[in-house]
Amino acid sequence: MPVVTLPDGSQRRFDHPVTVDEVAGSIGAGLRKAALAGRVNGKLVDTSHLIGSDAAVSIVTDREPDGLEVIRHSTAHLLAQAVKELYPDAQVTIGPVIEDGFYYDFAYKRPFNTEDLAAIEAKMQELAKADQKVARRVMPRNEAVEFFKGLGEIYKAEIIASIPEKEEISLYGQGNWIDLCRGPHVPSTGKLKAFKLTRVAGAYWRGDSRNEMLQRIYGTAWPDKKQLDEYLHRLEEAEKRDHRRIGRELDLFHLQEEAPGAVFWHPKGWTVFQTLIAYMRERQRAAGYQEVSAPELMDAGLWQLSGHLEKFGENMFLTRTPDERVYAIKPMNCPGHIQIFKHGLRSYRELPIRLAEFGKVHRYEPSGALHGLMRVRAFTQDDAHIFITERQITEESVAVTKLLLDIYRDFGFDDVRIKFADRPPKRVGSDEVWDRAEAALKAASHAAGIEYTLNPGEGAFYGPKLEFVLRDAIGRDWQCGTIQVDLNLPGRLGAYYIDEHSAKVTPVMLHRAIFGSLERFLAILLEHHAGRLPAWLSPLQCVLMSITDRQDEYVLKVTESLKNQGFRVESDLRNEKVGFKIREHTLKRVPYLLVAGDKEVAANLVSVRTLSGKDLGTMSPQTFAERLRIELDSRGRRLVEG
Ligand SMILES: [Zn+2]
Ligand SMILES: [Zn+2]
Repeated sequence: MPVVTLPDGSQRRFDHPVTVDEVAGSIGAGLRKAALAGRVNGKLVDTSHLIGSDAAVSIVTDREPDGLEVIRHSTAHLLAQAVKELYPDAQVTIGPVIEDGFYYDFAYKRPFNTEDLAAIEAKMQELAKADQKVARRVMPRNEAVEFFKGLGEIYKAEIIASIPEKEEISLYGQGNWIDLCRGPHVPSTGKLKAFKLTRVAGAYWRGDSRNEMLQRIYGTAWPDKKQLDEYLHRLEEAEKRDHRRIGRELDLFHLQEEAPGAVFWHPKGWTVFQTLIAYMRERQRAAGYQEVSAPELMDAGLWQLSGHLEKFGENMFLTRTPDERVYAIKPMNCPGHIQIFKHGLRSYRELPIRLAEFGKVHRYEPSGALHGLMRVRAFTQDDAHIFITERQITEESVAVTKLLLDIYRDFGFDDVRIKFADRPPKRVGSDEVWDRAEAALKAASHAAGIEYTLNPGEGAFYGPKLEFVLRDAIGRDWQCGTIQVDLNLPGRLGAYYIDEHSAKVTPVMLHRAIFGSLERFLAILLEHHAGRLPAWLSPLQCVLMSITDRQDEYVLKVTESLKNQGFRVESDLRNEKVGFKIREHTLKRVPYLLVAGDKEVAANLVSVRTLSGKDLGTMSPQTFAERLRIELDSRGRRLVEG
């Protein structure tokens, strides 16, 4: 006689074993219809799951992430079913859920093309409309192997054969199609209402390039059409905003095969990069940081001592010199900063000591993981290490958090989420030290009045961290800044200060970065703004154009004057129609377009228009300069247009 406890604490008594579906029905007809799966004592199950004894039960609908996962997973099955109906000799392999969707890998004699995708999607629609029941059954492992061999599904048979023999194999069937699966699944295909196949790509069986090439079909699925359309719109926007494309259009940078994951910055891109550095340098100076620079190449022994070689070695570049010494190219700046701290006797009175560096680091990433400026092998961090006493952890972490949030606001990121990442499996230091470090960082977040979500096991190998996640203009999240409390590295590398009782004490070190990687931050900015960087960041702030060559001399004079006042400005004297010039510079996303014709020259004026096409009328070059100065100084909070 099971007693079912619902999430609100209420209980329902049944005089027979009940299914999740019946429990939902006992609450309401609407909930029964919305039920995609259930959670019984924390375990996700099908709505057909039979509850025989007392249990905590909740009904999973599309309003929660688990429900969405069930939808996506079930849609992957629907895809496989459709492929098998259309191409009976295709073989199924695996079909996991991924971010925003799913994929399924098939073995087939030829690559699928876009017409195939359209046909498969139409078949999926048809099968969903038929509202076929999805049924679960179990089979002993060996029987399941034979079953799939009998169907000619040798990949499935191979997967099942690798499962321990004692385990029961669960299979899910819908219509006349059946697949190996742990489940759970939606109760019937009619629950799948909003999906789309997005693309097809090659993928090796078991991800190994020595194996056969399979056809991977990607798709996305959502609870309803509206959410699907919104997602497809976001996808389209993301493509338009791709920083690699914008980088090409604005001539900012390029990458090439000889230097995988390392950026060739062109003059305009480097201008933006240097603008970021100049901005951060000023903010750090005002916040009491001192800038330093440590070597990029240091003896491997130092990295051995710091623990990097052991815990981070597979991401490090090593080099051997003719004198047989092995050096590592720095993947992090911390050990270098500790050497600077150690040089000379430090008193507790000097703390906090905040050492900052625009440190170029190299990390080996597999070539498949590289992606434009977002994921590279060589990048520059706005890195700082703050040496403090244990008592100063809270106060200093609060100060760093405030600085960080204030800086993000200058870049137009007001929506910042914070994650707390605790001890990872691969780490240095005792549990007792980790307990202290985690408690201190938690206390600091409370003191700063910030709320965080937990990111378990994602801390650095030497300490826990706060991760700051920025939400961009199209709703994507980017993790940028971090604060890490480290009670490990300074001790390992022999750093100490002299306390008020003349004793040697190991300092606590905070690692912190605000942009994180400057390369990546710049990419995020380009995508967030769709390449239309605010004037204070834009590589070119305004272009002056003549209408005929009668204005050339005037345009050159005004350009020269603006340049001398420190603005990033160019003139365009080409013998082209002014409309053509404006279109061209608009495509180059120049914030201000200034035009001078005969009338403007006679009155010592320029006519000003914005990138978005707004006509600001005429004003004297000096007025424009003053207004632009205000815009740049206020980081776009006040605009030339007033
Ligand atoms: Zn499944
Ligand atoms: Zn560090």
